[in-house]
Amino acid sequence: MSRIRRTDNIRPCAGLQYLKGENMIIKNQIITAGITDITSEGSGVCRADGFAVFVPDTAVGDVAEIRIVKVLKSYAYGIVEKLLTPSPDRTAPECPMYKKCGGCIFQHISYEAECRIKSDIVRNAFQRIGGLSPEYDDFIAADSHSRYRNKAQYPLAVQDGKAVCGFYAKRSHRVVPVSDCRLQPEVFADIVSCSLDYINSHKLSVYDEATHTGILRHIYIRRGYHSGQIMVCFVARKDYSRQLTQLAHILHHEIENVCSVVMNINPDDTNVILGKKWVNLFGEDTITDTMCGNRILISPPSFYQVNTPQAEKVYAKALEYAAPAPDDILADLYCGMGTIGLSMADSVSSLVGVEIIPEAVEDAKQNAAANEIYNAEFHCGDAGKVFAKLRKDGCSPDIIVVDPPRKGCSAETLQVIVNPAPKKIVMISCNPSTAARDCKWLTENGYSLEKVCGADFFPRTAHVECVVLMSRQKS
Ligand code: SAH
Repeated sequence: MSRIRRTDNIRPCAGLQYLKGENMIIKNQIITAGITDITSEGSGVCRADGFAVFVPDTAVGDVAEIRIVKVLKSYAYGIVEKLLTPSPDRTAPECPMYKKCGGCIFQHISYEAECRIKSDIVRNAFQRIGGLSPEYDDFIAADSHSRYRNKAQYPLAVQDGKAVCGFYAKRSHRVVPVSDCRLQPEVFADIVSCSLDYINSHKLSVYDEATHTGILRHIYIRRGYHSGQIMVCFVARKDYSRQLTQLAHILHHEIENVCSVVMNINPDDTNVILGKKWVNLFGEDTITDTMCGNRILISPPSFYQVNTPQAEKVYAKALEYAAPAPDDILADLYCGMGTIGLSMADSVSSLVGVEIIPEAVEDAKQNAAANEIYNAEFHCGDAGKVFAKLRKDGCSPDIIVVDPPRKGCSAETLQVIVNPAPKKIVMISCNPSTAARDCKWLTENGYSLEKVCGADFFPRTAHVECVVLMSRQKS
């Protein structure tokens, strides 16, 4: 059995517990240790006699007295009792709610250190999960690590008799009221504050998750990074348009660039934020932005990259990796509203996109038309299934770009991608672990992993992206 053994750097303290029948320190033990590593969830790691101890809110280079709070078979959890030597990576968190809110995990270290960690997370995933050693391009850091998001979803709750909204506390569904999240544009705080004033003064009904009663569930805001256009969406359990129309007009008049206010109806007892029904409250149903020089129409349920300047850099990297010839056919699987494929459409002979959300496919078609891109077609449905059908009808792309959700590509999608084998596969992924898993499969099925490039779309949070180039093996 693995356990922490008593050593010179471990000293017992009051309230100490021992394993039954063994003279081994377990819970409440205090060790003095240096943090040597950090996990992909942002927890520091130190070692006590070869035993890994996970210590939240620490940085590599910290030396601390750590109290062991939980011991499992091969690892333990600890908390900092006393920080003896702070790591040079440490910095003061910008957000006063950092400790309470579950959104950020890297506010206590410098952005440079965060990028180092994220770059290592990508490398470790490919090495450990994929057993792969590709060439790595320079990590794509963000120019700005605050106010970078173009979208926010604030859950509403009632606290002390008043409507509040903010973010969920770590590992919980308790709303921590946050008036100004440092990752969101400042104008989002104005919209939230104006909406809450109205909701409270007009005693509008707020949803209670526990009892599935009340009406207003979320305030969901989107802003075009380049255009500045803002859409506000109120998510309600049932039609509340009569009560919200005046607020929609107030938002338009009081806050610059609010040009669309909509309501989404989600009647279900679920964690999923958006329901299927949409009601217009003010202005247009969509906003527009530009991405990689293309005009992009954004409808509320469609996926749109949350960090526009970073997405533009990553799309440029994907284009560099794809390096298409003018007569190449390009497939863009998991294409959302078509932004990646459309950014490459001028460089290829034709483009075919596949996406599961019908509204996103409609956006993709309109985006192609709005940008006078006539060599693109978009299909709705599961990437694997729809692409298999397209294959049967003779579609044989030279380059396939895939940008799947966190769970990665389905086995069916991978099978259909390689048969017949395109020259190149470019993968963009928001989860290096599943990217490494899928790349491993591809290396066993006719592809060489050429290059990987990590990128940060979500500074201060645990998320990290990567772009991958795979090419068909010569033999
Ligand atoms: N490439 C786009 C979207 C990437 S996010 C961009 O850069 O903006 C992943 C996309 O995959 C989302 O739009 C999601 O709706 C879509 N998706 C999820 N599961 C899918 C599936 N099984 N088949 C096709 N698309 C899927």
